[in-house]
Amino acid sequence: MAIDHSRAATSDWHRRAACVGQDPEIFFPLADTLAPGADAQAALAVCRRCPVLLACRSWAISHGEDAGIWGATTAAQRRAVHRAAVESGAPR
Ligand code: SF4
Repeated sequence: MAIDHSRAATSDWHRRAACVGQDPEIFFPLADTLAPGADAQAALAVCRRCPVLLACRSWAISHGEDAGIWGATTAAQRRAVHRAAVESGAPR
């Protein structure tokens, strides 16, 4: 079972996701809030071979997805990217 991309249903990138058929639990490591990325290696390995990594990451950042691994990023990393974009005035 893939992670739930139902909220990303406005585009079809999720249909080509490498996480289809993977254990969804690996995309929500419990240690993420304590040490970002520490327990995320299994999910990150899947993301790094995913053909839609950039679309996934962009969607997660632009939609404020605040849990789990999306586009080879942790929630903490996405928050940092979002903060940097806000501070620089870059379009999000
Ligand atoms: S980048 Fe990772 S979370 Fe996103 S669709 Fe691909 S495998 Fe799934």
